[in-house]
Amino acid sequence: VHPDEKASLLRTAGQFADEVIAPRVQQYDADEHIPEDLMERMADLGMFGGVIPVEDGGLGLDFRTFAELVMEVSRVCHVMGSMISLPSALVGSSIHVFGSPEQRSRYLVPLAQGRIFGGAAVTEPGSGSDVASMRTTFKRDGDSFVINGAKAWISMLDYASFFVTFATRDRNLGRKGVTAFIVPKDTPGVSVHPYKNKMGFRPISTGDLVLNQVRLGPEHLLGDIDDGFRVAMTAVERGRLGVASRAVGVTKGCIDASMSYAQGRVVFGNPISTLQIVQSKLTDMLVGHATARLLTLSGADELDSGRRGRQALSMAKMYATDVAARSASDAVQIHGAYGVSPEYAVSRYYRDTKVLQIVEGSNDLHRAMTAEMALGTRSSGDEPRPPN
Ligand SMILES: Cc1cc2nc3c(=O)[nH]c(=O)nc-3n(C[C@H](O)[C@H](O)[C@H](O)COP(=O)(O)OP(=O)(O)OC[C@H]3O[C@@H](n4cnc5c(N)ncnc54)[C@H](O)[C@@H]3O)c2cc1C
Repeated sequence: VHPDEKASLLRTAGQFADEVIAPRVQQYDADEHIPEDLMERMADLGMFGGVIPVEDGGLGLDFRTFAELVMEVSRVCHVMGSMISLPSALVGSSIHVFGSPEQRSRYLVPLAQGRIFGGAAVTEPGSGSDVASMRTTFKRDGDSFVINGAKAWISMLDYASFFVTFATRDRNLGRKGVTAFIVPKDTPGVSVHPYKNKMGFRPISTGDLVLNQVRLGPEHLLGDIDDGFRVAMTAVERGRLGVASRAVGVTKGCIDASMSYAQGRVVFGNPISTLQIVQSKLTDMLVGHATARLLTLSGADELDSGRRGRQALSMAKMYATDVAARSASDAVQIHGAYGVSPEYAVSRYYRDTKVLQIVEGSNDLHRAMTAEMALGTRSSGDEPRPPN
């Protein structure tokens, strides 16, 4: 991306976040639904195109620019940051890498243009971190496949018109028996059941995706039979880059809110920004933001240089979300009672950053993986990454 184009893209995204998203985000967080017109306006700006190549309808961004774009929007609303990350993560890249030409033109192109939306359905009621222990099964019936099972905690239930999902032909085969499918939401036997009133990520419609005798033709197979685990793993690093970038954005939001509040709030005759204990929290946020940003962008650079960057992005996801959670907690503290009011964004940051520590690999898992990669007991992912 040419530096001028990059600057203009980031400026446009920042202005959109400040002028269009900021005045409405507290309300749509309470309403638990992203307004359709906001999604349409983001599509008009081309913001869903991300790293998807231009010939497939995307923006063809490098990963560094993509990360900076997500940070810029997430400074105001990381849920919108997640909306613009999704096509560049599992939903889009699995179709890009494993999809047939027909699947690419039917799903990937409109996805990159923000004309349709999709969800990635991996987690089940009994398996999250341990993806290969899924219970959803499929059986072949002539040319068709019949899927039975249920996925849990699946996002985009309201907006998605299709899901990339996974089923096994034999639960005893572990990762070897898994196959990936594209399941249109209107297929008979598919039903969605959103959870209401969740603590964080409230505007995203998340819940159960039930697959009851869902019959699919061969055109819904994504990749080869038994290749599903590889499909599921195509984009984990991209997903982690997206979450880390969202966390960096939220940390910046915490800094902006806390600086302005601390300079305006007078206690015992002086603005609280003059108190060293408040300054110390601001310093932690500033250092945390600067370091998390660098770590995240270095992970993006790994992807840009054609490597998977598994270790870098695992560390970035864990560190950036931990920094964001601590910054949000400190930001609420600085705001005193107003910190728990829905009038101020920091209570939203506090609720959402807890969830950022859980999704795209729980931070405990990343903590274990980082040491294992350093100890050589787990691959650190210097192998080439899947293509864009
Ligand atoms: C708001 C929201 C949206 C989501 N959206 C989606 C979606 O769109 N699609 C989708 O497929 N999933 C989605 N998820 C699910 C998410 O990916 C899982 O919650 C996550 O993978 C963790 O799985 P789990 O919740 O089953 O936790 P478990 O795997 O049961 O783990 C529980 C806890 O055990 C510990 N733990 C687990 N494994 C290890 C390990 N190896 N080392 C150390 N500690 C460990 C950690 O503390 C972990 O937090 C969403 C979740 C939320 C909350």
